[in-house]
Amino acid sequence: MRVLVTGGAGYIGSHAALRLLLDGHDVVTIDNLSRGHAQAEATLETLGGDRYTPIRCDLHETERLSELLTSEQIEVIMHFAAFAEVGESVDHPLRYHHNNIAGTVSVLRAMHEARTPRIVFSSSCSTYGEPAADQIPINEDTPQSPINPYGASKLQCERMLADLAEAKRRANEPFAYAALRYFNVAGCDRQTRVGEDHRPESHLIPICLQAALGQRPKMSIFGTDYPTPDGTCIRDYVHVEDLADAHVRVMGVLEPGDERRYNVGIGKGFSVRECIESAKRVTGVDFPVEEAERRPGDPPELYADVSKIERELGWKASITDIDETVESAWKWFKTYPHGWPES
Ligand code: UDP
Repeated sequence: MRVLVTGGAGYIGSHAALRLLLDGHDVVTIDNLSRGHAQAEATLETLGGDRYTPIRCDLHETERLSELLTSEQIEVIMHFAAFAEVGESVDHPLRYHHNNIAGTVSVLRAMHEARTPRIVFSSSCSTYGEPAADQIPINEDTPQSPINPYGASKLQCERMLADLAEAKRRANEPFAYAALRYFNVAGCDRQTRVGEDHRPESHLIPICLQAALGQRPKMSIFGTDYPTPDGTCIRDYVHVEDLADAHVRVMGVLEPGDERRYNVGIGKGFSVRECIESAKRVTGVDFPVEEAERRPGDPPELYADVSKIERELGWKASITDIDETVESAWKWFKTYPHGWPES
């Protein structure tokens, strides 16, 4: 298929683009490099050859996007480009509304203009907010009630997709979407072709690895008084290669009229302390850890019921051992301790 990947120079987008290229698809990526890396595109170019086209384009350039969708004869969009940090979203909510919501409006308008029939959207478990204890593991029918602007921005995008699907149905125009609600995406390509490079970094596993590399004097546990067995937050860490696989699978089954929503996780959670222990085991470094205040916007426990995606798509995480996930990221961090080299 001919696929447009938004945010293709970013962490998840570059892994998905890599997977698509390896599977023989034609891939166009767009990225404004606000968070992505040109070096990721250069790597994809080496691997994809003629089947890969990187384009410098902002989500808000609706007309350019629409022309691109038409000229490149795009059959499906994978829309990854977004800001994705809970803490930042609490401090800078309008940044999230502008980039994630208005950016997605622009993509959908371009799609409408170009009559692109399918989109796979990166949604998030943050849309569920802080589910009651009896609603864990979280299934797709768990009420969506976000507690931070990041989650709210993703939920709003899901609603826009549903509205557009309804309008298209009434107009008898082909349209299909899938919203994949990611849990915590972690790890890197196990062959270290692409990887994870957020600046500044805020995610737990990379922060542990930077502490192991001595790039941070210590790392902090944000809250040790949560109602969980060891007092720290529990998350479901899904490997980025498995996540890319879920995208490819759903893309392959989307039929006109489809509205698919799936949780993508491994189906079990690890606490912050368990992740730190894993990072210490994998790296062999006993880096310093301090206990700190809670970070605003963090629900105590989030892990997925993944039975729907398994039942309907036959997708199941192949990597469920936290050490294996951390190991793949460690390989990347050891190879590129300062992230993607500047081009
Ligand atoms: N966390 C932490 N210390 C850090 C970074 C993260 O204790 O330096 C915690 C964070 O509060 C959350 C969990 O680790 O409970 C996962 O956070 P991350 O930012 O990786 O992902 P999120 O769940 O926010 O998407």
